[in-house]
Amino acid sequence: MARRVTINQDLFTKGGVITERDPNFCIVRLRMPAGMITPAQIKEVGEIASRYGVEKIHLTTRQTMEFPHVDPSKLDGLLAELEANGTSLGAEREEVVNITSCLGTRNCKFGIIDSVGLAEEIDKKFFGKELPVKVRIAISSCPNGCESERLNEIGITGIQRPIRDPGLCTGCGTCTHYCREKAITVEDGVVVLQTSMCMECGFCIMPCPFHLISGTPPEYRITVGGHRGRHPILGRHLIDVKSQEDVIRVVDKIIYWIYRQASTGLMLPEQLDELEFDKFKQEITAMIGN
Ligand code: SF4
Ligand code: SF4
Ligand code: SF4
Repeated sequence: MARRVTINQDLFTKGGVITERDPNFCIVRLRMPAGMITPAQIKEVGEIASRYGVEKIHLTTRQTMEFPHVDPSKLDGLLAELEANGTSLGAEREEVVNITSCLGTRNCKFGIIDSVGLAEEIDKKFFGKELPVKVRIAISSCPNGCESERLNEIGITGIQRPIRDPGLCTGCGTCTHYCREKAITVEDGVVVLQTSMCMECGFCIMPCPFHLISGTPPEYRITVGGHRGRHPILGRHLIDVKSQEDVIRVVDKIIYWIYRQASTGLMLPEQLDELEFDKFKQEITAMIGN
């Protein structure tokens, strides 16, 4: 006689439990802000997966892991063990899903902001918040955009503007070689910056042999309404802010705005005009005072 198993159906209402092609199994996705995990945790993840019959772990585009082909009758035990390991159940539905980030100033020589620290802070405050639409948040620590953050509903980019002292410039041209945008040229023996071409990456700040280029303090550029998938869309510029605290305030406002005003069934970028994005942008600008 076939064995009867009891499945806790409530677990399927959780975003990190995903129905699989084979309806007798499910996929379990983890919560891993910025894709960071300690060696001890990843070892334990492997051991937990093995104990629950998982043969291979999938690394996702959103910097997390998922276990394919999990027996739903074992979900209670599996999720409890993952929780105890600090790699708890993730999210995948109409909610704030895993926050992605590059390594930023902790490790990358181009980093402008502590993107990992910011991702962890955003995760603590907003992860799993249920909304009418799925909200992906990605952070790149510089305009190189390794996280393709503008293709997310909320994108955050570290920026820094160069400040130069043309009076002392020797016109050696060193800084021009570091500008991929060709925004700096040497004219009549001094550098000229075309601000309209400058991406505010700050890469030209360090190389001047005479230390004639300094930078503004790091800032955070926030975009809204990006999306990848079938029809990729770049997010629209919302605001540049000067501190991590201001980023959290703005993200809080964006999420509340989406929660109150967005409709289910359409992607966020398809609704931006209807949601009066420009009016929202004015409100955010007034709130931050830029
Ligand atoms: S986005 Fe910039 S800081 Fe982040 S990994 Fe890429 S180059 Fe480094
Ligand atoms: S900040 Fe970046 S884009 Fe702007 S001038 Fe310097 S190197 Fe070029
Ligand atoms: S590297 Fe310094 S001195 Fe040389 S062109 Fe640039 S700003 Fe002038």
